[in-house]
Amino acid sequence: MKIRALIGAAFVAVAFCRPAIAQAAVSETLSVDATDVPHQIWHARLRVPLAHGGDTVLVYPKWIPGAHGPVGPVANLGSLRATAGEKPVAWQRDANDVYAFHFAVPDGATELELSYDFFEGGAGPGNITGQLAVLDWNEVVFYPQGAGIREVSVTPDITLPAGWTAATALPPVLPIATLPSGHVQFAAVALETLVDSPLYCGAHGRAYPLASGNGMTNEIDVYGETAADIDATPDQIAHWKRLVAEADALYGYRHWQHYHFLLTLSDAASGRGLEHHSSSANGTRERYLRDPDIYALNSDLLPHEYTHSWNGKFRRPAGLDVHDYQQPMVDDGLWVYEGMTQYWGIVLAQRSGLSDPGEFEQTLASYYASLDAEPGRQARTLLDTAVAQGLTRAAQSPSGRFARRGEDYYIESALMWLDADTLIRTHTHGKKSLDDFARAFLGYGRNTPPMVVPYTRADVIAALNRVDRYDWAGFFRTRVDEIARHPPQDGITRGGWRFIYTAAPNRFQQMRERSSSSIDMTYSLGSTIGADGTVAFTIEGMPLARAGLPPGAKILAVNGEAFSLERLRIAVDAAARDGKPIGLIYDDLGTIVTTSVPYRGGERYPQLVRVPGTPDLLAAIAAPKTSVGATGGAH
Ligand SMILES: [Zn+2]
Repeated sequence: MKIRALIGAAFVAVAFCRPAIAQAAVSETLSVDATDVPHQIWHARLRVPLAHGGDTVLVYPKWIPGAHGPVGPVANLGSLRATAGEKPVAWQRDANDVYAFHFAVPDGATELELSYDFFEGGAGPGNITGQLAVLDWNEVVFYPQGAGIREVSVTPDITLPAGWTAATALPPVLPIATLPSGHVQFAAVALETLVDSPLYCGAHGRAYPLASGNGMTNEIDVYGETAADIDATPDQIAHWKRLVAEADALYGYRHWQHYHFLLTLSDAASGRGLEHHSSSANGTRERYLRDPDIYALNSDLLPHEYTHSWNGKFRRPAGLDVHDYQQPMVDDGLWVYEGMTQYWGIVLAQRSGLSDPGEFEQTLASYYASLDAEPGRQARTLLDTAVAQGLTRAAQSPSGRFARRGEDYYIESALMWLDADTLIRTHTHGKKSLDDFARAFLGYGRNTPPMVVPYTRADVIAALNRVDRYDWAGFFRTRVDEIARHPPQDGITRGGWRFIYTAAPNRFQQMRERSSSSIDMTYSLGSTIGADGTVAFTIEGMPLARAGLPPGAKILAVNGEAFSLERLRIAVDAAARDGKPIGLIYDDLGTIVTTSVPYRGGERYPQLVRVPGTPDLLAAIAAPKTSVGATGGAH
């Protein structure tokens, strides 16, 4: 998964590989009717073969891969009816487990048929607009309690709204493009593969082939709100092709056969990034292909989710390699699963040209500043942000992100992997790098179909030692397991750069300010402030918090004049010159408060600057491994 805002000590020892598709013990048939998506409803029918009658327990997926948490949206399920041999069958939810359903099946019945609806809505990016829809199959399936996700086989089909097309990594029985009726029949797959293969569909879709050869294909399937949204420029297509080529050059081998970047371009369905073996479910703003700011702000979305096919899906922390979706997932390896993916995401964005030169350094500066501003890091380890990621993700208070820490196993781990990369480069005088680790550990020496090779922390350390002998156990202990007063900065300094604050916003901040109509004063006043004056959060010890402003306060006036972002900026700059406090009037839930903020530091924005006379390792890391113009040759 990809966080869309800027924001293991106890692995189980397992050392075997197993294919994603095992012998099928149960063969279900699942029909989804998408013709009611204008009403935000998926209709589904499921047929489950029975060995005998009696109490039959089916479960609805609870722990969802990629989310790593117990977030299966069972609350959105409705209209559940069951029949056996055309006779109604009563059901009862398990009083101890709201994800388990008991069906009183009569003796002699050979099949249980369920019909039910899934109602879209709730938190997060929308899955349905009038023009497009994203189907996560875990939302519309049940399976027998106790059955493994590699033991249950499902034969799915879907009926689309008139005129819509679909894209998915699922294997269709006949090519989707040849079907005039809008009914797509897929081959039988393991439940694990079904849940791993979301389906995108819509009225305006376009597929761009990115690479093919040796029986492998890679394409991006773009669905937009209008036909104009999905027209990519030759440069954008070239970036995507170079991403595939650069990932080949980095990992050496692939663990998919037909890969689909699935992408919605819709403001209502924006903010999605979810990894799968043979596809990724991406969603960003409607104007992504037409607005350079939106394109640049999402430069690492596709590289991040693509990397997960290797790191997270193929290689996976043992605690996330589960028997079924009711089994709790153990998240203590996310500093590798997400953290190293965050690192390769921003590196591959540079190598492929998706991000502009200089963006790598600006991103690293933003990561460092954001983490270093957290009072919460003085009381909480990086490991704990991973272990408790489900709680962190569910916590809504933006101020809590600083007080408690956020999902820091993404960006803090990225700084840690930069630290490791520059260490290896320095130890080996540039002969080796973290690329060698990625090729050995994630590439794994051969192309494979989708499968899972679990790992422990000891496996990660052993693989690093094969690249560069070092105290990697101690390296991770101080950065992952122990309280670290500051985020890792050694990768930046060893890379030939220095972290500073400047008075001018970096390009990222300018783009984010433009796209969100806000001003980022996190490192000066201690908040981001919206165009209407709303203080998004406060940080303990920073000027706005010290002056008593609560999160959510709405600034009405600055130095006696009605609030505007421009006037606030002018007031901060004036206070830096004349030393006078900034006068504020704000609305705290209906109470009007007058206060003054003694702050003379001016605007402060994070930046990296070169240290003259040192090797520029960041430039070496960001340099493409393929020649520009190369387009995804296959092994
Ligand atoms: Zn991720």
